Amino acid sequence: MTYAALKAFEGLPAATAGVGKDLVNVPMIRHWCEAMGDTDPAYEGPDAIAPPTMLQAWTMGGLSGHQGRSGAYDELFALLDGAGYTSVVATDCEQEYLRPLRPGDAITFDAVIESVSERKTTKLGTGHFVTTRMDVRADGELAGTHRFRILKYAPAARAGLAVGQARKQQARRPRPVVNRDNAGFWEGVREHRLLIQRCEACGTLRFPWLPGCGACASQDWSTVEASGEGTVFSYVVMHHPSFPAFDPPYAVGLIELAEGVRIISNVVGVPYDKVRIGMPVRLEFLRVDEELELPVFRAGDGAALGGATGVAAGREG
Ligand SMILES: [Zn+2]
Repeated sequence: MTYAALKAFEGLPAATAGVGKDLVNVPMIRHWCEAMGDTDPAYEGPDAIAPPTMLQAWTMGGLSGHQGRSGAYDELFALLDGAGYTSVVATDCEQEYLRPLRPGDAITFDAVIESVSERKTTKLGTGHFVTTRMDVRADGELAGTHRFRILKYAPAARAGLAVGQARKQQARRPRPVVNRDNAGFWEGVREHRLLIQRCEACGTLRFPWLPGCGACASQDWSTVEASGEGTVFSYVVMHHPSFPAFDPPYAVGLIELAEGVRIISNVVGVPYDKVRIGMPVRLEFLRVDEELELPVFRAGDGAALGGATGVAAGREG
C-alpha cells in the first residue's frame, strides 16, 4: 500500500446528508449542563442557546446508529486494516463555532475525509492519522465544524518480553494490587492472619479494606483478626471463560466470616459441585507460588474439626 493510495481519499465524503435525530432542544441542553456541572445562565430561560461544545451531540446517532456513512470511509479503513493497521484510537478533536444553536434549530451535517497523514511512529505503534471534518448546519446555515482525528495503527510488540517468558507469566495466578489502603491486609496474610478493619469511631467492621468507614465516614481504624470460622454465603462455579493459571470448573465463594463481614475467596477441600450455601468453612492459607500466598476456605472435615493449621502457626509469631 503506497501513501498515494491513502492520500487519494483526502477530500472524499465520510458521511453525507446526515440529519440530526432531534431538533436542538431544551431537555438535551439541561441534561448536558447537569452532567457537566455547567450553570452558565446563557443556557437557561427563554433566550437560551445550546452550549457550543454540544455541537457534536446534535449529530449523534444514538444506540441505533446513523445511516449515511460513505463507502469511501469504509474503503479507507479496509485498506488500512489490510496493511496491518488494525487498531484504532481517537487522538483529538477540534471544534469551531460560527453561530449559536438555539432550541428549534434543525441540524444537518456532512463529513469529509480531510487528511490522511504519512506513516508515523508513536508509542502505541506505527500508523496513519485520519482526520475527518464534519460541517454542522442549522436550518441550512453553517453553524460550526467538528474535526475528529484518529490513529489507525499496528500495535507495537511488547518490548523485552520473549514469547516463552510471556507464556510463563500468563500461567501465573494474577497478583493482587497492593496499595496504601490495603497494604495492612496483605501484611496480615504474610503472617497468616486475616485482618478485618474496625472503625475506631463507631466500631463497625468492614471488609474489603477501605480508607474510610461506610457507616460514619471516620478515617480512624484499627484491625481485628478473624477467627477463621465462616459459612458459604453464596458462590458461583466458573466454567467459562478459562483464564491462564485457573483450571475450570472451580467454585468461587462469598464467605461470611463469624465476625459478620464477607470475603470473596476459593472454597477448597470439596469438589466444585458439592459447594453449598450455608456450608461451614474454615480459613487456611494457600501457597500459590514463591511470592504469593492467599487466604482460602476449606469445607468438609477440615472445617468441622477446626483443623486449619495455617492460622495456628501464624498466631505463634
Ligand atoms: Zn464508623
